[in-house]
Amino acid sequence: MSDVSVAGDPLAGLSDRLASVRGRVADASARAGRSVDDLTLIVITKFHPVEVVRELRRLGVSDLGENRHQEASAKAAELADPDAHWHFVGQLQSNKARAALGYARTLHSVDRPSLVSALARIDPQDVTGSGTHRVDCFVQVNLTDDPGRGGVDESGLEALAEKIAGVPLLRLRGVMGVAPLDEEPRRAFARLRGASDRLRAIVPDAVSISAGMSHDFDDAVLEGATHLRIGSAITGNRVAAG
Ligand SMILES: *Cc1c(COP(=O)(O)O)cnc(C)c1O
Repeated sequence: MSDVSVAGDPLAGLSDRLASVRGRVADASARAGRSVDDLTLIVITKFHPVEVVRELRRLGVSDLGENRHQEASAKAAELADPDAHWHFVGQLQSNKARAALGYARTLHSVDRPSLVSALARIDPQDVTGSGTHRVDCFVQVNLTDDPGRGGVDESGLEALAEKIAGVPLLRLRGVMGVAPLDEEPRRAFARLRGASDRLRAIVPDAVSISAGMSHDFDDAVLEGATHLRIGSAITGNRVAAG
């Protein structure tokens, strides 16, 4: 991908980059012998203004992602588009869980029992109005050796999955992971696929795999990713302050 600066017009080149990434996703799925229809492209819009989100919506993007609650909440409110599907992909503080469900339909980063407990205390009526709609979530698995990174340790996966499965508000969709910087992404995504197999032994419906970012989504598709979280390859580089 070219390192396009978006410091001037944040919309410059956006539709070309989106088309290019869509093409590469189709190529990757063909190489993996998979149907592109089984892949959900989530465009991560962090650091970029709401104009970018509006243009993405105009270009047919319905799945959007953010990784910080404050920015996400402000952007979703500004966009005010009930048909936009917001995915929360960053670390979520337990005391922000209820507020995050004010806009996010899918949480990709459920990674510890205390967060599940906080979510369990939320009345579905408060979140969805209907009381029937559930919140989709992924268990984030830490693919690094660093316990400070987001995600449950691979050994804690089953216990966390069982806890999530016991919360009526939550519908567990699968596993999520971020490849470490110091390892071949494909190897890390193979471990994530192994975690996905273990998860499905507990929750058979939780077949999804959220993996793959701008620089590694080809490898993620080869290892079974179903939800790609792609930011800079589409939005361009973040605007430098000032
Ligand atoms: C920022 C972010 C992405 C997208 O990263 P790019 O490299 O810009 O594609 C994906 N997942 C998470 C959790 C992120 O924070």
